[in-house]
Amino acid sequence: MADSEPIIIEPISIEPIIIEPIIIIHPRRLVFIQVANNCMFCENPQGSSYIRHVVPEAKMGYIYCGECKNKVEPMVKIWEDNYSYGPANYLKNKDIKVQRSNGEIEAGWRLCNPILEYSGNEMIVCCEKDNHIEKWCFLSKILELNPKEGD
Ligand SMILES: [Zn+2]
Repeated sequence: MADSEPIIIEPISIEPIIIEPIIIIHPRRLVFIQVANNCMFCENPQGSSYIRHVVPEAKMGYIYCGECKNKVEPMVKIWEDNYSYGPANYLKNKDIKVQRSNGEIEAGWRLCNPILEYSGNEMIVCCEKDNHIEKWCFLSKILELNPKEGD
């Protein structure tokens, strides 16, 4: 084997695959906002700004400039699919318990809106199934009252 030709292995040329990191932008509460030169997707927006609500009842959504129009719907989809109920995703469409203002724990509620950041707290809006009563709850409390089965 000593005299045999060296085997040259040609490296296979592979086009580099560039996967752009996806930066998840969470919707904000859009109140008292500047409606020009404002955009959640770029640094120096110019001109008019537009709003895309994701939770209209809570005035939650995205504000974007004309240059970033195409970035909004994909972000809404990513957010709705993966983040809207966050750690409470397993409670979607389930009967859950909430704590009423008088301290009582009550069943017969469900999640009705995505998680919102409000005054630095993660909140989730729950609805009573029959009476259309809405209540803003602390996400941590909902998770505590409705643990994942098997935990
Ligand atoms: Zn922009």
